[in-house]
Amino acid sequence: MPIMSVRAAALLSLLVCAGAARPVHAAESAAAANAANLAADPADSTAEWTIRAGDTRLRVRIENPPDAARVAQLRRWIGECANAALTSSGRFPLRDALVRIRLVPRRGRDSSPVPWGQTRRDDGVSVLLYVRDDATYQELRDDWTAVHELSHLMHPYLGDDGRWLAEGLASYYQNVSRARAGLLDGDEAWRRIEAGFQRGRKVGAGARMDQIGRSRSSTMRVYWAGAAFWLDADLALRREQRTDLDRVLAAYARCCLDGNTQLEPEEFVAALDRAGGNGVLARLYRRYAAMQDFPSQDEAYRALGLQRTDNSELRFSDRPDALRLRRAIMAPRSPQPGE
Ligand SMILES: [Zn+2]
Repeated sequence: MPIMSVRAAALLSLLVCAGAARPVHAAESAAAANAANLAADPADSTAEWTIRAGDTRLRVRIENPPDAARVAQLRRWIGECANAALTSSGRFPLRDALVRIRLVPRRGRDSSPVPWGQTRRDDGVSVLLYVRDDATYQELRDDWTAVHELSHLMHPYLGDDGRWLAEGLASYYQNVSRARAGLLDGDEAWRRIEAGFQRGRKVGAGARMDQIGRSRSSTMRVYWAGAAFWLDADLALRREQRTDLDRVLAAYARCCLDGNTQLEPEEFVAALDRAGGNGVLARLYRRYAAMQDFPSQDEAYRALGLQRTDNSELRFSDRPDALRLRRAIMAPRSPQPGE
């Protein structure tokens, strides 16, 4: 199984999904407030610091640090994003990774607080975030890009054939982790996922998922059919195996993931099945990889008590089992104790 370093150019760059609806964020939850404190080193204003969780660490560097007050603000924001990432297992997926923040001026009409993010695997693993230099703390907190990129640390490099799995995983967790950390209201997280599914479905039919690669015209299908795969996987693991996606990914990370791992998509799925998936992932993978159209959410939404209305909104059932399932995935929580 090839273990190799991947050149800089090769990586999981984030194409912009910025057409998302304007964020509606949660009232600050206790979890979020705690999270910021838990993550940061003793408060200071240096532009390089380390966030530790169990045996793992995330080093953070602001490459062109502004004044001390702004640095402190950026530290607080990244601390919250890091804690969002820790809500699934209490440790980072890799023992060591680097987050590089580069402040950039506003470009034209692009008002994104984080106009560009990329996960690179050239010399170790690093997440590069371009942050608009005048983005407010609240704008940064409402943005999904940093948590999306941190979620890419959960999987190995999967090449073009597995891009839909990689982008799908990050797109699923950018909503799940932010809801759990109190950065996004839980119901709003489901609405964002549904909005993504709608964007993906709009692309229409095309190549099989495992052959779609980097086709520009299919970007939304790559991201959101991918996210649908991971939602289905999470639900099937809970239903059939009495486990969940967090636990399977965490077990895989502990046994098998390092920054240079490169796997074929089928190899990754098989490794997850050995890490607790017990065949669920391979079964779903076979179904999804051959799909040429956008997957149906009927079964998933029935279990979750979600219903699309005629005007493309989402209705939430208060059926107890559905409510329990939605909360098990999205409810606010403190970072899980590391194992
Ligand atoms: Zn991505």
